[in-house]
Order: sequence, then C-alpha cells, then structure tokens
Amino acid sequence: MSATGQFLPPPPLDPPERLLLGPGPSPVPREVLAAFARPTLGHLDPHFLRAMDELRAMLWPLFGARAGNGRVLALSATGSAGMEAALVNLLEPGQRALVAAHGVFGARMAEVARRARAEVTVVQSEFTEAPDMEGLEREAKKGGYAVLGIVHAETSTGVLADLSPLRTIADRAGALLVVDAVTSLGGLPVEVERHGIDACYSATQKCLSCPPGLAPLYLSPRALDRIAQRAAPAQSWYLDLALLEGYWGTDRAYHHTAPIQMIYGLHEALRQVHLEGLDARFARHRVAALALWAGLEALGLELAVPLARRLPPLTAVRVPAGIDEAAVRRRLLETHNIEIGGGLGSLKGRVWRIGLMGTGATLSTAERCLSALAECLTQQGHTVPADPIAAARAAVR
Ligand SMILES: *Cc1c(COP(=O)(O)O)cnc(C)c1O
Repeated sequence: MSATGQFLPPPPLDPPERLLLGPGPSPVPREVLAAFARPTLGHLDPHFLRAMDELRAMLWPLFGARAGNGRVLALSATGSAGMEAALVNLLEPGQRALVAAHGVFGARMAEVARRARAEVTVVQSEFTEAPDMEGLEREAKKGGYAVLGIVHAETSTGVLADLSPLRTIADRAGALLVVDAVTSLGGLPVEVERHGIDACYSATQKCLSCPPGLAPLYLSPRALDRIAQRAAPAQSWYLDLALLEGYWGTDRAYHHTAPIQMIYGLHEALRQVHLEGLDARFARHRVAALALWAGLEALGLELAVPLARRLPPLTAVRVPAGIDEAAVRRRLLETHNIEIGGGLGSLKGRVWRIGLMGTGATLSTAERCLSALAECLTQQGHTVPADPIAAARAAVR
C-alpha cells in the first residue's frame, strides 16, 4: 500500500526473448504474435464466425480428412482437454478402454479414462520402447472394448508410434481408435482417414507454433454416431461435444465465450502451415532433427531412442555420468537464453528433452542448440570428441 492506501500494482511484465527448444511451448513466429493484437470481437460477430469457419477448413487437410467427413473444431483449452474431451464423450461409465502406455502421456490417457469411470486395461511398455503391439493384439482379441487409446508422438520419451496396425487391432477389440497427436500434428503426417482414426486431438503450442490455449480435435462419423447414441450426456458440460457443435455448427448457439484472440492466433498459425505446405513442413522437421541427432552424437552424447522409432520433433538424449543435468539446463537458459526440457517419469534426471518444433525446426536452431550445449558441457568438464556443427551439417548435406 502507498501512503494514500492505494494498492500499487507491479510494473508491466517484460519477458525475455528465449529460444524455446523444450517439449513445448515452441517458438511463436511474429505473424502469429501479431494476430493476438487484432481487435477483439464478439463471439457471434460475423467476422469472427468467418474466422472459425476458415479455421475448420484449414484443420481438415492437416488431420488428413476430407472436409465434412466427421467433425473438426478447436476446444478452448490445452491439449489435455483434447484428451479429456475425446475420452469423456466416447466412453460411458462401466465401458472398457484399452490404453497403450509407453510414456507419461499414455499413462495420463489411462487416468482420464478411469476418471470417466471406464474399466481400463493398460498395455505398458518401458519408456523409450515402442508401444507393445503384440500385447495390444492379445488384449484386443478378448473383445468388448469401447475405446483403444494410444499416443502417436510420446513427448515424454521421444518415441514415435506406428499407427498403421492400429485400425485392425481396434476392430478386433470392437473399439473406436483414439490417437493423441499433440506433438505430431503439423510436424509429421497424422492422416486420420488413412489410419482409420476415430478421434484425434492436438494442441497449439507444439508443432503448430502458436501459444498454448486451444486443442484442435477431429472426430470420425463413427465417433459422432457413438456420441449421438449415448445413454446419458457426457459428465463434462464444458467439453460436451454435442453442445459444442451447437456453437461451431450452423446453429451458432451460445455455449461458452470463445477465446477470440486464441482463435486469431491459431488461424494465423494454420495459415502459416498451409502457406509452407505440409510436405515441406514435415521435411523441415526431419532435416532439423537429423542435424541435431548427428550433432549430439558428435558431442559424445547417447540418444535415448533408436533411430527406427525416434521422433523428429522431440529428442531425448542421455545425461552423461558426472554431469549435473539441472545445472546444464539452468546455464542454457541463463547464459544462452535457450530452454530445453528435463526428463519425466522414469526418465527424470536421466535425459534432456530437446524439441525442434514448428518454427524452431531448422538447421540454424539445431546449430544454436548444439553450440550452447557444447559450451555448457565443456564448462562441466565433459570432453567434446568432435565438432557438432560440422557433424550436423554433414548429416543433412
Ligand atoms: C503436451 C502434451 C499433452 C498435454 O498437452 P497440454 O497442452 O500440456 O495440456 C498431451 N499429450 C502429449 C503427447 C503432449 O506432448
């Protein structure tokens, strides 16, 4: 309080410019940040409704679905809300869910399904392993499952799951197929129609390079039928997809106030994705990752996941013996203005997680990360055996 009794607010925020190379949020391009500064409109303003329609139009090809074949929208919350919406709408209490858990986010899927009062069977595999497809098949043969859930790109481990066998497994289980594409959408092909996916959700702050705040979601016609046939409404009013379609669809019925500026931001981020072109964008993520992987090996570091199942947008790299994991991250942030992630779950303290997502997926960001990491490791007495920049460039020449 000042002498007059008036509360003195703190000065305005002045966040530093960091290079965000962690597991998300990813770097946000200037065009997307500028979209947030446009005039706020009412959530039923015709200009805003057009923005929503255009946003939907841009989501179809990104998910790999024909426009109108099912439903796409963006939930007003982060990726975890996408997970929750898919599971609470497709599961009814007492129904059975089969979940592949090969990392922290698979485990979260299982927990969300349990809280939707489903009976959940988890097929667990070690962190850094691929999902256990044989285990899933064995369980699927028993039948009677309402949902099969799996994470496409496990951000906690840097493992990419092969989606191609899953439709057959889900059919055997009698289940709808739910796929977490939070760290794949916009960075690598998702292709819901090709893989027979029934529900697929993502988030804005990973490979789409938009600040966190919305969860793009796709539902197949079969998933919509399941929702229409529910015995009772989903227990979440906010994430009830039947109510949400009342707003996103032609009725335009008020449900909740859309976060106007977030929609502008995602609209611009999706424009950037399509201006670049999906194939070019996926190739860029792959090239940046190849450079990073070669550079990390040149630094004398061991990648946690073998090449065959390694995820381009997110790399887990083992912390060498004798190196203080947290001190390296701190120095990267404080001295080099670079954020990377630490390990989660059973990998806590044992790996760093480096994200080259969205705008951050370039050879030059990979090089900036490698140079800074070389400095931090050398400072702790680690011997760097080869030139990481030369190795990175050679890998993508
Ligand atoms: C980040 C992430 C989530 C959670 O998304 P939030 O936006 O943090 O709620 C879920 N699944 C995966 C694979 C993720 O990487």
